[in-house]
Amino acid sequence: MTAPVPAPRQATAGADRYPDDVKNMLTVGLARACRYAGTRPDCQVLAVVRYGQLALCAHCDRRRSTLGKGTQPVALPDPSALLQIAAARHACQQAETGLRNAVAAARQAGHPWSAVAAILGATRQAAQQRFARTAGHR
Ligand SMILES: [Zn+2]
Repeated sequence: MTAPVPAPRQATAGADRYPDDVKNMLTVGLARACRYAGTRPDCQVLAVVRYGQLALCAHCDRRRSTLGKGTQPVALPDPSALLQIAAARHACQQAETGLRNAVAAARQAGHPWSAVAAILGATRQAAQQRFARTAGHR
């Protein structure tokens, strides 16, 4: 496995317009920016193939005419796989917040820790240790 090559400076100019996860991937070098990122409105920003030093997103690769002709394409790891991890992590964080709020609401409604634990499939002690700080310890 080769280390990702940092995106050329000009390709990430204006990167602050991109979603945070895309911005982060470009900033830390987990993905390369398409040569046309920021210049073509329909560019997908994250490169999936390169021809020598020329990196292109899937859309710009389909539009490619003579650019990089004669140079063998090298497929880059699919950046959407990392975006899916970021999306799943975000969903987990939202679910955790929802769970904490639900436990707090149940406690405020008067349900004992034993009921909260039963619905969580956990022991009373485990439920209390995990949620007591946000749900009120009583
Ligand atoms: Zn592109």
